[in-house]
Amino acid sequence: MSLDTAQVSAELSARGLRLTRQRRAVLDAIAAAPCSLSPLQVYDAAREQCPELGLTTVYRTLEVLDEIGVLRRVHGHGHCESFVPAATAHGHTVVCDACGRVTEFTACDMDAVAEAAARETGYRITDHFLQLSGICSRCAHSAGERSAG
Ligand SMILES: [Zn+2]
Ligand SMILES: [Zn+2]
Repeated sequence: MSLDTAQVSAELSARGLRLTRQRRAVLDAIAAAPCSLSPLQVYDAAREQCPELGLTTVYRTLEVLDEIGVLRRVHGHGHCESFVPAATAHGHTVVCDACGRVTEFTACDMDAVAEAAARETGYRITDHFLQLSGICSRCAHSAGERSAG
């Protein structure tokens, strides 16, 4: 997945922020990664491009980039959290249990769930985060090959 730097820059300046060298390094690290990156992994990768980068800046930048919809948050086991570039304005992720690959999908038929949740809890539902897990086609394929062979 790739990230459109011009668009990110425009989204940031709409909020009075600039695409600084630090933010750019964070963005590039995530765009270049073959899989989702935790904040610490982002920190390690981005410091190659921007050695003066601090971990706090990484966390703040991830927050900002998540807010403007450039990144997608991926929840792992326990409290670990990682990030991938967002492919669409409103998408959701499916994570492979076997290899950890993250893929985005846009199907989003959440109205019935949101209504039921509102009835059950009395909340006014304003947003949702949806993440599914499963076995990706690559892993399913290689598992099939192993059992066939
Ligand atoms: Zn997989
Ligand atoms: Zn949705």
